[in-house]
Amino acid sequence: MLVTMKEMLQDAASRGYGIAAPGVNDMQTINAALKAASELKAPIILDCVEMNDLEAVADLTRFFSARYPDVTTALNLDHGHSFEMCARAIRAGFTSVMIDASKLPFEENVSLTAEVVKMAHACGVSVEAELGRVGSAQNYAQDRTSPHTDPNEAVEFVKRTDVDCLAVAVGTAHGLYEGETPELNFVRLAELRKVVPVPLVLHGGSSTGDDKLAQAVKTGIAKINLFSDLSSAGTEAIKALLASGKTTSLGFLPLSMVYNAGVTAYEKMIAHYIKVFGSAGALA
Ligand SMILES: [Zn+2]
Repeated sequence: MLVTMKEMLQDAASRGYGIAAPGVNDMQTINAALKAASELKAPIILDCVEMNDLEAVADLTRFFSARYPDVTTALNLDHGHSFEMCARAIRAGFTSVMIDASKLPFEENVSLTAEVVKMAHACGVSVEAELGRVGSAQNYAQDRTSPHTDPNEAVEFVKRTDVDCLAVAVGTAHGLYEGETPELNFVRLAELRKVVPVPLVLHGGSSTGDDKLAQAVKTGIAKINLFSDLSSAGTEAIKALLASGKTTSLGFLPLSMVYNAGVTAYEKMIAHYIKVFGSAGALA
């Protein structure tokens, strides 16, 4: 069942579990995410960045969502950078959009987010925005010092934009950390949870560590974005298959076998995180 992200996150926030939001881009990843969620009776949010074929992803999500009617899911544009891109996603059938104006000054972030919220809500679509800066894990040595989301600013931001959920910066970064251990600011996260009236989102979940992510959910995170751990699990599985020298009677490995090895590993990693976030059984 395809719904808005707002109602899913409100349930997660009130019952204290976190929803996995894997990055998807095609038929295989959408099917794998819904299959993992179905097997664990968990809700799932499909995140799709704007470089993908949004119309195809929306069509495929409707198709596979009908195949897994028991799974509550939302299709969310991840890191939409313009009003126009959010409009395109809504027109394609996304049930949620993220407008990421976090690089802009506060007032400009407020005004662009409020514009997108007005349009999206008129279409029955929910909106995620970001306040504070979630940096890059590759640059974590520098980005770890970037300021975490300020609670007072967050309250004002939500009030003035009417956004449905807020991505906050509390120490995670996008990508895989190399030789660095991310430090999550649980004190700040608890402060934010106390005063911000909408569900909170954590970007850059990959390679943060299961214990820290479980703790983030306990402290008030309702949605955790995942991409790098899923994608690299898939790539490593493909590398292992190719290195094994396995072949078929055709004398080569059909592309579908290679791709399936990757997607199976991607699906297993999603299932792992669903358990870590405590959302397994939430739909039971
Ligand atoms: Zn992100």
